[in-house]
Amino acid sequence: MAELSARMRSMVQPYLAGIEPYDPNFTPTRINLSANENTYPLPADVREAVDAALAATPLNRYPDPMSNELRDELAARHGVARENICVGNGGDELLFNFLLAFGGEGRQLLNCPPCFSEYEFFASLTRTGVRNVRRDRKTFALDERALLAAAPQASLAIITSPNNPTGDIVERSFIERLCHACPGPVMVDEAYIEFADAGASTEELLEDCPNLVVLHTLSKAFGAAGIRCGYVIAAPDVIEVFAAIRQIYSVNVLTQAAAAAMVRARDAFSPVVEQIRSERERMYRALAADGRLTVWPSQGNFLLVRMEGASRIRERLRDEFSILVRDFSYAPGLDDCLRITVGTPEENDEVLAALAALLD
Ligand SMILES: *Cc1c(COP(=O)(O)O)cnc(C)c1O
Repeated sequence: MAELSARMRSMVQPYLAGIEPYDPNFTPTRINLSANENTYPLPADVREAVDAALAATPLNRYPDPMSNELRDELAARHGVARENICVGNGGDELLFNFLLAFGGEGRQLLNCPPCFSEYEFFASLTRTGVRNVRRDRKTFALDERALLAAAPQASLAIITSPNNPTGDIVERSFIERLCHACPGPVMVDEAYIEFADAGASTEELLEDCPNLVVLHTLSKAFGAAGIRCGYVIAAPDVIEVFAAIRQIYSVNVLTQAAAAAMVRARDAFSPVVEQIRSERERMYRALAADGRLTVWPSQGNFLLVRMEGASRIRERLRDEFSILVRDFSYAPGLDDCLRITVGTPEENDEVLAALAALLD
């Protein structure tokens, strides 16, 4: 990965001198199962509704800074009020703003790796300290005791559920205890919650836990990673913080219009989500049946798989089969692990066949 030039290292803020530009590690392939996108086609009637909404959107006016029409659709989806929601340019913008508002120098993010690497990246950009409480090496279960012990010193916490890349979900009762133990806000990143079993969301704790923040995105279950739309649900005074520090026009008019149409049509996504869940179980069983692989149960639209020589296998999947999956073997605790997004039945069959060929 490239580093900043020496010239730039001397110009940027000193704490940024060691930063490495993001390398998406992207190669165009026939089958891309590397980013947990939804690879199913958008339901035709939803696509039509989105196209009509885009066609009716004037481009000459600035966007509504607070995305109020979209917020009302989202509020209806979740049974909350508009004042409980802030929309962002993808979940990523909201994660950055969360660190910007509640982190900072001399303050500490409570983090549970292996998890989404953006949290630590945004902590470094905002000069927030990170207190890592690692998951169990074998099962990836949270170390609940250590987290509760560290919580009183944390300025903010993030727990991912289902966790990316390990696939497990967090117990609601634990989040309740964590919210009581942590003086700052506790975010539960539910980017993949639609793929989890019913009742897995921590949202119903919002009433009793005024420091809970639940993160959602349209990038995964809604198959809309390209439009960049995420949102948080929290108490109104927490939302006011997100609203106060955001780039006011970060969610553009086309995104607002497309997202509102998709959320309105949300029931049309249920069959797609059901099929991904059933493909996930089929893939899990097929991979678990191979004694050379370790695969963890997942509540997301992806599976974490450990195999000898994972990095090389990923390269060969890409170069010989034109299948892209994500290599995590460099990440602490994830040696020899690949993350494979659950795709369409045809894509999944190809993954299974290619892996069988490469492991022989
Ligand atoms: C994909 C993802 C997000 C949000 O992604 P956006 O495309 O920025 O909305 C947030 N958290 C996790 C863990 C994710 O995997």
